[in-house]
Amino acid sequence: MTTVLAVANQKGGVAKTTTVASLGAALVGLGQKVLVVDLDPQGCLTFSLGHNPDRLDASVHEVLTGDLGAREAVIDTEDGVALLPATIDLAGAEALLLMRPGREFALKRALAPLLDDYDTVIIDCPPSLGVLTLNGLTAAQSVLVPLQCETLAHRGVGQLLRTVTEVQQITNPDLVLLGALPTLYDARTTHSRDVLSDVSDRYNLPVLAPPIPRTVRFAEATASGATVLAGRKNKGAQAYRDLAENLAKHWAGSELATFSPGSG
Ligand code: ADP
Ligand code: MG
Repeated sequence: MTTVLAVANQKGGVAKTTTVASLGAALVGLGQKVLVVDLDPQGCLTFSLGHNPDRLDASVHEVLTGDLGAREAVIDTEDGVALLPATIDLAGAEALLLMRPGREFALKRALAPLLDDYDTVIIDCPPSLGVLTLNGLTAAQSVLVPLQCETLAHRGVGQLLRTVTEVQQITNPDLVLLGALPTLYDARTTHSRDVLSDVSDRYNLPVLAPPIPRTVRFAEATASGATVLAGRKNKGAQAYRDLAENLAKHWAGSELATFSPGSG
């Protein structure tokens, strides 16, 4: 059975794209076949996995509009994950999709024929709650919410959770909210922990383990066209490996390991 995970938060800069790329590469390290889907017109996932969005002939845009089969647009990456890339054309897909019946289902329909090729599909949602994110949430079985552990991190979380609830009511009754993933986490101060425990209490959100530490390696990796897992040993890569193991075990039937910001 293929697992489809959406990574969503309408806030930019919370490490959605980093999480999709690094978690994808970590799952490949566990022997899985992984497809990552770039749903952001800015193409940051595509770029960070070593492809220049400006030089691609085929992308998720043509796939969503029905002009191309998804398999035709998928490309390989150095990290070993398969990528359904995005180009700036995707910015126009919102308008095109809005005029179509079943517009929230375009991605789900497009992915259906190639699900059997992969163990896990991870969808990088754009920083908005528009029709592209609705497509991501409709195509997924579960959703993970990266949360940057800084003041005001809770802003917008309520709106995102309302969108998840609406998707569960209307287009995807089986969608499971896995919980929040703490990102850019600073274990040296109590601030990150205070913010996390505030958000998880406020919204009754499970917090996934482990928190992803803040490290400069991520910026270096993005510039190199491969994920932090490809580089030297570092705590960011290790955190995503641990997260990959946690999720893989969960999908095989174990309980999800969570992090309690209140303790320790
Ligand atoms: P989003 O997709 O939510 O907009 P990104 O994944 O693009 O967020 O991350 C935003 C920025 O933060 C990028 O420059 C990325 O390299 C950096 N970043 C992500 N995770 C970390 C981390 N754990 N430590 C330090 N920088 C990070
Ligand atoms: Mg992004």
